[in-house]
Amino acid sequence: MRKFFLLCALLSCLYSATLNITPRQPLQGNSVKLELLTETAVRNASVVFRGKTIPLYLSAPNKYTTMLGTYMDWPTGDYRMTVSYQMNGRRYELPAIFTLQNGQFDVETLVISRQKQEEGATDMTALAKENATLGAAFRAWKQGSYTDGAFVFPLTDTKTPVTSPYGIQRHYKNHQGQPLYSWAHRGIDYAAVLNTPVYAAQNGIIAVAEQMQVHGGTIVIDHGQGIMSIYNHLAKINVKKDQYVTKNALIGYSGNTGHTTGPHLHYGLSVHDVRVNPQEWFGKKW
Ligand SMILES: [Zn+2]
Repeated sequence: MRKFFLLCALLSCLYSATLNITPRQPLQGNSVKLELLTETAVRNASVVFRGKTIPLYLSAPNKYTTMLGTYMDWPTGDYRMTVSYQMNGRRYELPAIFTLQNGQFDVETLVISRQKQEEGATDMTALAKENATLGAAFRAWKQGSYTDGAFVFPLTDTKTPVTSPYGIQRHYKNHQGQPLYSWAHRGIDYAAVLNTPVYAAQNGIIAVAEQMQVHGGTIVIDHGQGIMSIYNHLAKINVKKDQYVTKNALIGYSGNTGHTTGPHLHYGLSVHDVRVNPQEWFGKKW
């Protein structure tokens, strides 16, 4: 009899929650949604992913969700993680897995002009300082959600050509043809002419709004729950830090400031401090 009760207790804990992970086979740079469905309210739902603890946020009664990001240069293959939560004073764990597929990224070579070098666009000390500022912002997301429906394209012309896609491996040379450095592109470049209006892709709070030496005119919008959009190389910034903006609000004008080879808008998306491919977020409600 006692064994029977023990078995029931074990089964009830096994069947008390469902964990969904979509997609199960993302491409490098894509985002993954985790959804935990429970029978009653639970506490402290979180996932340990690549050594970091990421919260699952209450999105409906007994439903806890979070987004995970992947980088273009993470190895392909299986990524295992553990989701945990507390219920009636006990801690429960569920394993999850996705399999990262090759994103098939191209390679390009770019030449930085003498003028840009003299302006300090290749200054690695300035870059390190800017990355520290941006990194701190990306890790300080707000727990509440400001998002309303899908993300919208940040320019009026949704057909604006892409001059450089997400994930492309970039080899930079100076004006004398000497190699400078290489890195993968962590956003998408759109061929916006100088002073094209730029709009907020989603509701949120301005986390960064400043002219930077390498990133140029930079805006980061915190959409809450680990999601932030990024706008670089702006000529003009129309918003201030901590200001609330609605989706489609005019936030600035595109430019050619900082580390650029011509006028464009660099648009990016950070998902729990991972710069993902923002393309799949347009028009998509997760
Ligand atoms: Zn870019």
